[in-house]
Amino acid sequence: SRELERALDLVTEIRDFPEPGVLFRDLTPLFGDADAFRHVIDALGEAVGEGVDRLAAVEARGFVLAAALGYARGLGVALVRKPGKLPNVAGRVDYELEYGTATLELPMGSVNKGERVAIVDDVLATGGTVAATAELLASAGAEVTGVTVVLELTELDGRSRLGSVPVHALRKV
Ligand code: IMP
Repeated sequence: SRELERALDLVTEIRDFPEPGVLFRDLTPLFGDADAFRHVIDALGEAVGEGVDRLAAVEARGFVLAAALGYARGLGVALVRKPGKLPNVAGRVDYELEYGTATLELPMGSVNKGERVAIVDDVLATGGTVAATAELLASAGAEVTGVTVVLELTELDGRSRLGSVPVHALRKV
């Protein structure tokens, strides 16, 4: 819709952040605009589709999107954390970043075996973050139904890290 396009047009491009040569997409104005935020959440809600039991998201912006989306769609959220935050961990995965490695942890009891879980995030870049999240969910016995993001940076081909998991992006750039 026009409203959704207007909302996505609020995303700005920041050169050389967080390192020289990187073009960072800043969603701050989108989160800060009530109408834009609502249209984005509504569109994510449609993109997630039916037949989903739960959402999963990675801190921090993923949490904001998943919280609103979970409320709108009547779904609970599995909150995937950076390491060292959780008292009881169901699973941990280390993954490669462009420079170095990162770790994510799934809280104990946040998903049930056999559940159909949709992953939500703001930006799909290299796909490392969502691939690691999908691995965590699969290890816990959940079925990942899809990945839904606001922006997909197509040049980085994050989709290729996700095998057969469907990826829905509100905008590809
Ligand atoms: P990936 O693991 O390379 O796909 O990076 C995705 C993660 O880094 C997501 O959780 C995003 O929040 C964040 N990220 C990567 N690139 C950008 C960007 O250009 N803007 C905002 N967030 C980004």
